Amino acid sequence: MAEAHVRKQLTRSQLAQLILSQEGKCAACQCKLDFTQKGQVIDEHIVPIFSTPEGVDPNRTENRELRCKPCATKKTSSEAPMRAKVRRIEGENTQADKRERAKEEGRYRPIQGKALVGGGFAGSKRFNGEINWKTPTPTPRWTTEE
Ligand SMILES: [Zn+2]
Repeated sequence: MAEAHVRKQLTRSQLAQLILSQEGKCAACQCKLDFTQKGQVIDEHIVPIFSTPEGVDPNRTENRELRCKPCATKKTSSEAPMRAKVRRIEGENTQADKRERAKEEGRYRPIQGKALVGGGFAGSKRFNGEINWKTPTPTPRWTTEE
């Protein structure tokens, strides 16, 4: 995730703006927001931070809304599968990026499956769990020099 995408607290003026535009009601269920108790009003990001494109400020007022606690909880849990997916995709990108960089810097070299085994795959940090035991002739594996 980009570093700029950090959850920020609403400023007082942002909060005032939202209360006014929502007329003091929950953005989802329209119940009257309870400001008398702490933690009963949650400021949500309409487009979640994790899916905000780079260069866009997820904390801008137009992307914020106030919800009552039950509605905020509902929103957060409904986004959980998507959040997990984004994390997975980012992880894959990171691996691919690493490989691309290694290629550019000339650190990208094939490793024969046999060499992996010979190098002691069981305790090897290099072993990536992708050895196909059914392949009689090991296919070349690619790795980066760390
Ligand atoms: Zn609500």
